[in-house]
Amino acid sequence: MKTESNADLTHFNTFAFPCDAKVLYSIDSDEDLPLLRQELRNAPCLILGGGSNFLLPEKLDCAVAHINIKGKKLVNENDRRCLLEVAAGENWHEFVQWTVSQGLWGIENLALIPGSVGAAPVQNIGAYGVELSNVIDWVEFYHLKTGEFIRLTPGECQFSYRQSIFKTELKDAAVITRVGLRLTRTPNPQLDYGPLQSFQHSDNLTPAFIAAKVAEIRQSKLPDPGVLGNAGSFFKNPIISDEHYRVIKQAFPDVIAYPQQKQWKLAAGWLIEKVNFKGLRKGAVGVHQHQALVLVHFGGGKSEQLLALAKEIQQTVQSTFGVLLEKEVRTYPFCG
Ligand code: FAD
Ligand code: NAP
Repeated sequence: MKTESNADLTHFNTFAFPCDAKVLYSIDSDEDLPLLRQELRNAPCLILGGGSNFLLPEKLDCAVAHINIKGKKLVNENDRRCLLEVAAGENWHEFVQWTVSQGLWGIENLALIPGSVGAAPVQNIGAYGVELSNVIDWVEFYHLKTGEFIRLTPGECQFSYRQSIFKTELKDAAVITRVGLRLTRTPNPQLDYGPLQSFQHSDNLTPAFIAAKVAEIRQSKLPDPGVLGNAGSFFKNPIISDEHYRVIKQAFPDVIAYPQQKQWKLAAGWLIEKVNFKGLRKGAVGVHQHQALVLVHFGGGKSEQLLALAKEIQQTVQSTFGVLLEKEVRTYPFCG
């Protein structure tokens, strides 16, 4: 296990905000985890993958464990499904590319999501009508409190919209080490989302074709974190009651919303755009010009400026629509 004191995390977060961490541990294998537990002696520790869903403070007064465990394999296959095992430190998009290159269906709609495999179950990553929980077979983790390696079934992971047990009961206690996925060679295209609908009647669809189209759409719309600091959608899409939806719909007939059982999911980007924040810049931070749900860092700024902008957006949306935007990106304070 490599250890670095007073580590600079500027390149460990896609916002590229400077962050000085007390100590950074690099976890390269399962064997490093008991050593980490010994070092921590129950002190708080932030588990870090690619840093694409974090807003880090300037000074982080706790330990950080960067998960870098590698490896992937096809465990077994029958005529209905392929079981794959992939380690937490693998890059998610590279893993998607690997699966589609083998003709496997299941995660092609999740192409080009930044970050690591280990973080994917934490928020049950989702895009274009597919969620990771659709294909999860098991999640393995190391429990920092008990020192055990444990495997959870999808039910035990308590997956829901951008949510799992790793954000609640097991937050900061479970280091995800490996994930088991069930994919299939049987064609199963998921093309219900607007930009993908035009491919519904295409012949010879393959997972590689869909992954490439998803990547193309994303590149045309979302800022590349390598060029402009961001962490994707800053807020979750809020779910509201039918009664509340009717009130909003009456005042704003053009509201973008999708039915969810007896409730409605509002497009948070639309709410932010409607209160005139789209494309707004405040010094070193701002709201992306093509997707108002993405807050950006132009460089040379501090994360507290972005946090202040996020708060202003929340307050304006709340006072206009009576809707509280919940943050999807993890923000500080974290430790203690
Ligand atoms: P980090 O940011 O490092 O960590 C995120 C959370 O997971 C933290 O709470 C951290 O403690 C925890 N964590 C990380 N690794 C582990 C581990 N091994 N064990 C336990 N806990 C861990 N998300 C979507 O769902 N859908 C999208 O379409 C999407 N698009 C995005 C587009 C852009 C341009 C960007 C920048 C982000 C996007 N995201 C999207 C958000 C982000 O990519 C995902 O949440 C991703 O899974 C985060 O991975 P990471 O490795 O960077 O996690
Ligand atoms: P979009 O197509 O502009 O749509 C706006 C919102 O409407 C999305 O957030 C999506 O919700 C919802 N939506 C669209 N079509 C829908 C349908 N047919 N049924 C139900 N809900 C629908 O969104 P976008 O920004 O370009 O993103 C495209 C996809 O990538 C979305 O799934 C989005 O979640 C995902 N994405 C996520 C992040 C992140 O950081 N979390 C960043 C970029 C993109 P859902 O979000 O519930 O799908």
